[in-house]
Amino acid sequence: MTPTKERAAMSRLEIYQFEAFDDNYGFLIHDAEADVTAAIDTPDTPKILAALDKTGWRLSHILNTHHHFDHAGGNLELKEKFNCEIIGPTGEADRIPGIDIKVDEGDTVAFGTRSAKVFNVGGHTLGHIAYWFEDDGAAFVGDALFALGCGRLFEGTPAQMWGSLQKLRALPPSTKIYCAHEYTQSNAKFAVTVDPENDELLARAAEIDALRARGARTVPTTIEMEKATNPFLRPDEPSVQRAVHMVGADPVDVFAEVRRRKDHF
Ligand code: ZN
Ligand code: FE
Repeated sequence: MTPTKERAAMSRLEIYQFEAFDDNYGFLIHDAEADVTAAIDTPDTPKILAALDKTGWRLSHILNTHHHFDHAGGNLELKEKFNCEIIGPTGEADRIPGIDIKVDEGDTVAFGTRSAKVFNVGGHTLGHIAYWFEDDGAAFVGDALFALGCGRLFEGTPAQMWGSLQKLRALPPSTKIYCAHEYTQSNAKFAVTVDPENDELLARAAEIDALRARGARTVPTTIEMEKATNPFLRPDEPSVQRAVHMVGADPVDVFAEVRRRKDHF
């Protein structure tokens, strides 16, 4: 092996996932070669500090996805402690405590030897962003896309959210999706009501029940899995359209109807 190849093989993104609050996930990412560590969002500061302790990594960056308290609430305390650099969405900069660098659609975030492409995935909040580490096959999507679900539309429109989800759906199928909440079991209960003919979904719902019964995580998921089973990524599929009695309708309208039903489920 040439020295160049050896270096490339050693360099990869390490990801440490942990539970926070009732149903949030926190993530630390680490590039050993450059010795940099980022928290993806800042839920539950004590849990983040415990994760840093456990890994022995020193916090150098925070990558925020959106302004909600369970995503940016720990920013200032962590910045004070570690003097880390805070990167967050341009569209919500005034609501991201301590933000240093504003990023949005099309920007690239350098992280040690790794880098992330930024997508604007607004809808849950207007300026929500996602970070795609293309070379590492990982995307951190906050509350935009969940396993078998998507974020509630607190600020954006169905058209905006459907546009956002299409960007994520277009990622390579093997991409691991790190979403910020363990909502999968309740999402599955709803999903089967709007995609009842989807055998892969029915099988997955049963598997999720088994995983949760023993307290196992259902995150990360993959784009391939979500494309096959997540009704919010499938408003252009006949099976979903039939279930909501909207065969041939505009996918935006089908998406809006599926989202509306979930809000009242
Ligand atoms: Zn949120
Ligand atoms: Fe959240």
